[in-house]
Amino acid sequence: MNKEGLKIVISGPSGSGKGTIVNKLIENENSIVSISATTRKPRVGEVDGKHYFFRSKEDFEEMIRNNELLEYARFCDNYYGTPKKFVEDTTASGKNIILEIEVEGALQVKEIYPEAVFIFVIPPSLEELRQRLIDRQTETIDVIDKRLSRAKEELPYYKEYDYLVVNDDIDSAVTSIENIINCEMQKSSNFKKQIESMIKER
Ligand code: 5GP
Repeated sequence: MNKEGLKIVISGPSGSGKGTIVNKLIENENSIVSISATTRKPRVGEVDGKHYFFRSKEDFEEMIRNNELLEYARFCDNYYGTPKKFVEDTTASGKNIILEIEVEGALQVKEIYPEAVFIFVIPPSLEELRQRLIDRQTETIDVIDKRLSRAKEELPYYKEYDYLVVNDDIDSAVTSIENIINCEMQKSSNFKKQIESMIKER
């Protein structure tokens, strides 16, 4: 079959639960998550090449110069970016690729791939978001404050996304996103190549 996989962009404030959602979504074998490069230091338990490609600022800037990134942005004093080739290879193989990225990067992807599916995940309230960041125990209070003010800057970008999911319950948020992906996969525009090759069949 000639059907390309979907590019699915998931954004939302840090602590909105999008990482947990993505981990559940990739239990479905038709979807793969893109591993980003970042200059952020690894958190406890994070593994290079699995959670991120952890890179120095110099190495990251070299990736930018070599045009290896589909998009990149600075987020709370660090660079984050999506390696381009993996995205292209995955969708060409017919699998969906999930990009869990912040809003500036998402807008860059929209310029290049307007047909991608854009999903914004928000927490039920900012107080809940603050509590989740504190409970996670991965950041200092200073960093949490930075991420909360960044969350307020990110929220107005919801308008740029096709779908919005409120994550007040992880299982229902995952179900909503699976429903979105299933509907998007059935869009007639995704079947162009398949129909064309059927027409050519003898
Ligand atoms: P964290 O430091 O919590 O892992 O990620 C911080 C933010 O960077 C999150 O909003 C996450 O979605 C975003 N992010 C992760 N990878 C990328 C990427 O490749 N590109 C962009 N633009 N943002 C990313």
